[in-house]
Amino acid sequence: MYRYRCEQCRTTSPPVRTMREVETERTRHRRRVHAGHIPDGEEIQTHTPPPRPGQPTRPIHYVAYAALVVALALIIGARFLA
Ligand SMILES: [Zn+2]
Repeated sequence: MYRYRCEQCRTTSPPVRTMREVETERTRHRRRVHAGHIPDGEEIQTHTPPPRPGQPTRPIHYVAYAALVVALALIIGARFLA
């Protein structure tokens, strides 16, 4: 995901999926607001959407979930073997 940021206007575009789309947004902004000039401080940002609730955000979370699954498997397996 990409966003176009114009520091002169202090605005950021909604996120788009491709570099081509964000470049189109940049060109449109330059033409509409800055008469085709390149505003100082503009940038294309890589936008990472915030994680959904419950979504693991760090590798350690995946390790913790895997350890939990292994522990449950061992507990359940021990009950059947006993
Ligand atoms: Zn601007």
